[in-house]
Amino acid sequence: MSIKVENITKLYGKQKALNNVSFEIKSGEIVGFIGPNGAGKSTMMKIICGYLPPSSGNAEVNGFDVMEQSLEVRRHIGYLPEQNPLYPEMYVKEYLEFVGGIYNVKNLQGRISEIIGLTGLDREQHKKIGALSKGYRQRVGLAQALIHDPAVLVLDEPTTGLDPNQIVEIRNLISEAGKSKTILLSTHIMQEVEAICDRIIIINKGEIVANDRTGEIYQHTAQAGFIVLVEFNKVLDESIVQKIPLVDKVLKVKGDSWLVSNSNGIDIRESIFKFAVEKGYSVLSMQKQEKSLEEVFQELTK
Ligand code: ADP
Ligand code: MG
Repeated sequence: MSIKVENITKLYGKQKALNNVSFEIKSGEIVGFIGPNGAGKSTMMKIICGYLPPSSGNAEVNGFDVMEQSLEVRRHIGYLPEQNPLYPEMYVKEYLEFVGGIYNVKNLQGRISEIIGLTGLDREQHKKIGALSKGYRQRVGLAQALIHDPAVLVLDEPTTGLDPNQIVEIRNLISEAGKSKTILLSTHIMQEVEAICDRIIIINKGEIVANDRTGEIYQHTAQAGFIVLVEFNKVLDESIVQKIPLVDKVLKVKGDSWLVSNSNGIDIRESIFKFAVEKGYSVLSMQKQEKSLEEVFQELTK
């Protein structure tokens, strides 16, 4: 197991930022850690990287305890913090020499050239960090996280604040790095996890509310099946709407409109229509509801 988090609770004074959080990430997985601001993502990541002690619980990286063996943990982990703390007065190359020196990287000059190529910093390597655009500063952040070739990467909102082109470039770099590494990546952008993650862990108010493969999370959490928004020509009692064959859930939206569903995903439109005809009602409109991951997320975190 690359990352193992067991019953982590974190209190800042009286405020509980994490409440009994547990999850595991296997070697080679790219996992999206998603949740609204203040959910506890950064706190969890700092704990995993050994920069912040939990109030209780354990976490391991590659089998090393983050508190007891924090030096080993840092050797195996590359961390891009949310506030990417770069030194604006330093030159790109000088900064990478500095970070590589801390990690005691062998053949440092060779490794720096390699990493500069990998992160697309060739043309910027002799510039001061302060002179770079946010997208390029983020590349420097990724370069420092990768310099010691760690097995695990922890990236805290790596694309926040970037423009759409920069987002694509950084995502590509992450996907490329992910071919040989385990990655935990936080974001509040749904499309980001859909684009690059194998699995998604949703956190809200310090608690895990979902943890599943990216493609499956929607089916599991939506509990939706086949949902139809239907409008009748008159106000009906819930007891009547419930009698529509194949419909197992009904929800009054407003006036004559209802959300009705079949949890097994069976198409209920024909059944609704026949039912209405038999009972002498008219169906004024009927729309199948397509739920996106986005909506599932909002549902889970509201
Ligand atoms: P996220 O990264 O998901 O936005 P954080 O982990 O930064 O969430 O924060 C989780 C909660 O803990 C928030 O309510 C935040 O205000 C609080 N918090 C974070 N850091 C500190 C701190 N150093 N001192 C006090 N409260 C903090
Ligand atoms: Mg954060």
